[in-house]
Amino acid sequence: MVAENIKIKKVLIANRGEIACRAIKTCKKLGIKTVSVYSEVDYNFLPALQADEAFLIGPAPSNQSYLVIDKIIAAVKQSGADAVYPGYGFLSENTTFAKALEDNGIVFIGPNSKAIEAMGDKIESKRTAIAAGVSVVPGFDGVIKDENHAAEVSRGIGFPVILKASAGGGGKGIRIVYDEKEIGISFTSVQNEARKSFGDDRIFIEKFIEKPRHIEIQVLADKHGNVICLGERECSIQRNNQKVIEEAPSSFITPEVRAKMYEQSVMLAKKVGYDSAGTIEYIVDQNRNFYFLEMNTRLQVEHPVTEYITGFDMIEQMLRVADGQKLQHKQEDVKLSGWAFEARVCSEDASKNFLPSTGWLSTYKEPIKNENVRVDTGVKEGCFITQFYDPMIAKLITYGKTRDEARQRLIDSLGQFAIEGVVTNIPIVEKILLDSDFASGNISTNFIKQKGEALNNPKIILEEYLPIFISAAVFVSAERSLQSSFHSCIIPSKHCVMLNGQKYEATTESLDDETLVLTIGGKAYKISAASELSLASKTISLNINDKIYNFRLKCKGSKQTIAAFGSVVDFISFDAKFEKFIDYFANNLGSASKISELEAPISGLVTAIHVKDGDMVNPGDRLLTIEAMKMENLITAEFATKIKKINCKAGDAVSVGDFVIDFDNSAN
Ligand code: ADP
Ligand code: ADP
Ligand code: MG
Repeated sequence: MVAENIKIKKVLIANRGEIACRAIKTCKKLGIKTVSVYSEVDYNFLPALQADEAFLIGPAPSNQSYLVIDKIIAAVKQSGADAVYPGYGFLSENTTFAKALEDNGIVFIGPNSKAIEAMGDKIESKRTAIAAGVSVVPGFDGVIKDENHAAEVSRGIGFPVILKASAGGGGKGIRIVYDEKEIGISFTSVQNEARKSFGDDRIFIEKFIEKPRHIEIQVLADKHGNVICLGERECSIQRNNQKVIEEAPSSFITPEVRAKMYEQSVMLAKKVGYDSAGTIEYIVDQNRNFYFLEMNTRLQVEHPVTEYITGFDMIEQMLRVADGQKLQHKQEDVKLSGWAFEARVCSEDASKNFLPSTGWLSTYKEPIKNENVRVDTGVKEGCFITQFYDPMIAKLITYGKTRDEARQRLIDSLGQFAIEGVVTNIPIVEKILLDSDFASGNISTNFIKQKGEALNNPKIILEEYLPIFISAAVFVSAERSLQSSFHSCIIPSKHCVMLNGQKYEATTESLDDETLVLTIGGKAYKISAASELSLASKTISLNINDKIYNFRLKCKGSKQTIAAFGSVVDFISFDAKFEKFIDYFANNLGSASKISELEAPISGLVTAIHVKDGDMVNPGDRLLTIEAMKMENLITAEFATKIKKINCKAGDAVSVGDFVIDFDNSAN
């Protein structure tokens, strides 16, 4: 399709990863040419391969590539692009950038620079929101001078309070304080963090809303004074104040509350002369009172859930508005139908405090896509996930007529999402989706923290899925040892199954060419392959008692693993006659023995060391902090030991595998 009525002919995408590919997709649909820019480590990522033209703009660190305005503008001029799409993060909310483009006669596919400026600073934007008649979190909308001032203001508001960097973003520069005793030290540390991360140490304080929900309104405005709202998104499932799972609509707000949120959002957008897609974030308390948090003057990561329930292509809308067109729709044309979920698939280890994981993507196999299942990504097999950018590698988005249908689709699709080479958050996302509180919509921003190990330990198997894992283990093992005809060999037999080091029993009742019937704990399970069963395919689909279950499958060294439903399960299954054989494996799979050196689990910058030579530490004690992927990553002790020698100091750059601490294990 060629959109002959769009003046923009060639767009440079000043971003990387999935959002760059997302923009390319819409441009292609509209017949617009695309230009991508990439850093050295991104040469084989999808944006550079999918765009019509691609320009290398420098080394990996963003401040030498994606954040260098001059390099982007040089690429625009060289390519002859007439517009720039900024995505999110990087330069997307940078007033200087938007202004520089405006000054060079290049269209910025985003709001005008004045609106970005007005909403870019949290203190200023809160004042603007108040002036526009929007309800804000009770607090002090000025700069806190010092520790005493912080204590005085907090007493006035009442604990708990939240300290925020005015220039903050991406969940950084935020500290919750429950107790007056901690206010001084918290103020100083958040101020330091803000100075370091944003080059701006202004801090303000507001009431910490307890067990809140994060609900945001998508607005769309044009350059002719029209503003409409495209529903809300609920983003309450967060870790480190960053979103993990989002959905639209919200299961919490009523049509009346939505109408009020729309009204205030439109007032704010009009007040700042907003003229693009933007998001107004609110925190909502348990009584459905909502309070303005901030406005993001860009497309949001989670925009696909809005696209599913409204049918709008958000990037097309942004392009049309930037092109000067009037909105094609009025508020009454916007219909919200069905339900959508998005899961951010991140390269990180939930069981280690969400430590980012770097490495080669040795396997990257997406779930089957269709009109209800969408994957947005910028990676492919063979890419290297570095420490330079944020850890999100893909987004999986599903749609359904109801919340439950969309949720179930997401679970089924995650079972088909095989990623190897880095650790991902897929298991914790699955556990969240299967949680009964989540399923009933009983959530808050505290959800992940509150549920703790039940969610973040992938070794734990949900009770209702135990027979499913046992069935899968027996079936896969039988299939593996006997290829196509697993007949005679396993009848009638008792199986010994080891799942994550625990022994279980199952008995074969009957089988034919396709179907195996097992009894587990007195109950029968009928198992067959739901699709062509190829054990090399990384994923398998089984029919167990007439329901389809998808699993990820991996075989490495002496380990074979099936993963799904929130668990990563090492398994062995043998005829019970060979129990000794199982013991052999079990011994080889024993828990990690104490090691004598701590290897840096990630490349990055050591920002703090929390122990000294000679200290005794227990599991969970803090060892050091490494900054990577825009995050401060706390590395903790996995077993009790004594610190023999620390081989690094704060400020050192370390690489994965460097021996950063020597342990003396003889002490225990
Ligand atoms: P959204 O609000 O769209 O869900 P996030 O808050 O997760 O998005 O941020 C989107 C991206 O932008 C992430 O890569 C995040 O790290 C980055 N980001 C957002 N604000 C800032 C900021 N002020 N400084 C640096 N990075 C930011
Ligand atoms: P960022 O720019 O980093 O996205 P936000 O102001 O949007 O910062 O806040 C990020 C998250 O922090 C919110 O989604 C919410 O979970 C939490 N948060 C922020 N302000 C409050 C508050 N006053 N009470 C409770 N939680 C809050
Ligand atoms: Mg925010």
